[in-house]
Amino acid sequence: MAVTMICPNLRCGRTVVAADSARGKVVRCGHCHTLFIVPRDARTVSEQKSAEVPKETTGSSSTKRTGRS
Ligand SMILES: [Zn+2]
Repeated sequence: MAVTMICPNLRCGRTVVAADSARGKVVRCGHCHTLFIVPRDARTVSEQKSAEVPKETTGSSSTKRTGRS
């Protein structure tokens, strides 16, 4: 299990994923390296996805295309 929270750094604001056992403990944002405490009511997620999973990348470049000849 894991918990997700938003980085308190306003300049970052990324979603940070930490272990469920990290509640109430200090973790470090992997993006801006800001230290903060994981709230006890942090959302629990069952899946451990990558930090960033672009769902809607329509029209964006650098998307995985299967048109590889
Ligand atoms: Zn951050």
